Amino acid sequence: MKTLGLIGGMSWESTAIYYRLLNEIVRERLGGLHSAKLLLWSFDFAEIAERQHAGDWAGAGALLVEAARRLEAGGAEGLVICTNTMHKLAGDVQAAISIPLIHIADATGRAVVAASVKRPALLATRFTMEQDFYKGRLADKYGLQPIVPDQAGRDMVHKVIYDELCQGIVKGESKSAYLDEVGRMLRDDRVDGVIMGCTEITMLIGQGDFDVPVFDTTRIHAEAAVDFALS
Ligand code: GLU
Repeated sequence: MKTLGLIGGMSWESTAIYYRLLNEIVRERLGGLHSAKLLLWSFDFAEIAERQHAGDWAGAGALLVEAARRLEAGGAEGLVICTNTMHKLAGDVQAAISIPLIHIADATGRAVVAASVKRPALLATRFTMEQDFYKGRLADKYGLQPIVPDQAGRDMVHKVIYDELCQGIVKGESKSAYLDEVGRMLRDDRVDGVIMGCTEITMLIGQGDFDVPVFDTTRIHAEAAVDFALS
């Protein structure tokens, strides 16, 4: 089994979910006492979120590159960035290391295609919903047409991620707001699936809330990471 290097802490709420999933998936596949071989670099998320909201992506990128290099030097054989948003910097990170980066949008794109979904709703941070690094990759590499909420919907989804989920706060009213937003998109935008394109959203909603296929990027990414580790 290969050792995975995780860049986490963005937020630690979802990194804790990754840690559990990676170990559970390895146990499911290998049985007994088997568990994942992991190195974890966990950021103080305040230092990252500050740079994101100031548009200082170069500053955030430098921090990620340093973390990736240290993980590689420590023995990681594959890299997992435990957030969708920070894949905005995946190219810079990959260029700085010689181990492969397991890209969350590639794992997600393959899962969406396998489910024959074409127009998935994309719920994520404002950065992931409004910029092209994620939607563009899903469109260009996987032929998908991701649809994002309208401005008011994007503001609500983003705020719930940063002000609640990343701080460990899970509210029924926010779940209702997410379900209402997806309900509107199913009706008005004819979406045929839902990408939970932020690794904390799995704390709030899941497949049981919808009749269309739901793509939990945290789980999908963890599965892809274990595929790599056991390959
Ligand atoms: N974990 C979230 C994501 O998957 C948001 C936090 C971040 O900006 O990294 O995008």
